Amino acid sequence: MSDSTPEGAGGNKFETQAVRLQAERSGYREHSVPIYLTSSYLFDSAEQGKALFSGEEDGLVYSRYDNPNTSEFETKLCALEGCDDGLATATGMAAVFASIAGLMKSGDHVICSRASFGSTLQILKVIMPRYGVETTFVDPTDIDAWRDAIRTNTKMMVAETPSNPGLELVDIAALAELARPNKIQLNIDNCFATPYLQRPAELGADIVTHSATKFIDGQGRVMGGALLGRQSLIDWLRFYTRQTGPSLSPFNAWVLSKSLETLAVRMDRHCDNAETLAAALEGHPKLNWVRYPFSDSHPQHVLARKQMSRGGGIVTFEVKGGEAGGMQFQNGLSMISRSSNLGDTRSIATHPSTTTHSSIPEAERLQMGITSGTVRISVGLEHSDDIVADVMSAFDQVD
Ligand SMILES: *Cc1c(COP(=O)(O)O)cnc(C)c1O
Repeated sequence: MSDSTPEGAGGNKFETQAVRLQAERSGYREHSVPIYLTSSYLFDSAEQGKALFSGEEDGLVYSRYDNPNTSEFETKLCALEGCDDGLATATGMAAVFASIAGLMKSGDHVICSRASFGSTLQILKVIMPRYGVETTFVDPTDIDAWRDAIRTNTKMMVAETPSNPGLELVDIAALAELARPNKIQLNIDNCFATPYLQRPAELGADIVTHSATKFIDGQGRVMGGALLGRQSLIDWLRFYTRQTGPSLSPFNAWVLSKSLETLAVRMDRHCDNAETLAAALEGHPKLNWVRYPFSDSHPQHVLARKQMSRGGGIVTFEVKGGEAGGMQFQNGLSMISRSSNLGDTRSIATHPSTTTHSSIPEAERLQMGITSGTVRISVGLEHSDDIVADVMSAFDQVD
């Protein structure tokens, strides 16, 4: 795997590995792993420098390549996702971009869910065509649409599930079955579920990407990302990222690795609170619909239960009254933050059509299920009574 030597993980249970996989202890016998803020590493001799650079000897040479903190984060995340190997990146988008640009070449074709993160869509619509890579966008829930879009030069399928902000799901195992015989790489953004709720590689995905900025950090502090997969793919992508340099800072890697220690307990509470909120909102007179993957009203709740262990920390709904309703709701909140992030301890309300998705033409936005009244709540770790009460009282401000 990476250059760090993890200590005995004490078993292969998720929670135990998240806590116990650690970088090798230094001579100080510290219990908590230190932050290795160093750009380079010393050579004991001229010969060692030569051996390290030729690859004859394994070891750290430069932090764009490798660092004990980033390696620890990678090692842990691979164990949690059930992937051979992985790479930490400076942001989630650096991971998504490297997974596409690093594996596609001129003449290749990509199929992508149209319910993808805005910047993922921009990469495939605007940036990759400059390098001769074309993309077809499909309805993520329609497996026939994915099948029909396959061409002889299709090399990758890209999807996130559940999607942001519409919480649409793709059937990962069904896509993997389409992809495998056609030698197509299945690339899944697992940001919303985290490895605690969903492990795409076990369902047949070839590449798993993360924005660690969201639930993995979980406290709205640092940016980070990761891309994980089979050894042969990551070996090549390690070369690609070492040369192109989207490396994660050791400080952020330290924060994110510590955050993984608490991922399981945090996600369970996010899910508890989101389930409570979704149930309280069902049938509310100020709403047209509420969406939560594990609610019976979600059109794909059977699939959700098949590929996820719980429904996650995001609830999306449509306030009546279009944009005005969405604005009145946001301004009616007294505790929940108005912000564009998600996966924080603090509950956050986002109005996609006027913020995160405002640059997308309306017709396209509607196809993605983002109406002007759509609101996304990233349900935090406050007491669920207070979260529900704040949302309910904000509805009083909606005409
Ligand atoms: C936020 C997000 C990203 C991008 O991550 P950054 O860390 O902001 O670069 C990618 N995919 C999804 C689903 C996201 O929510």
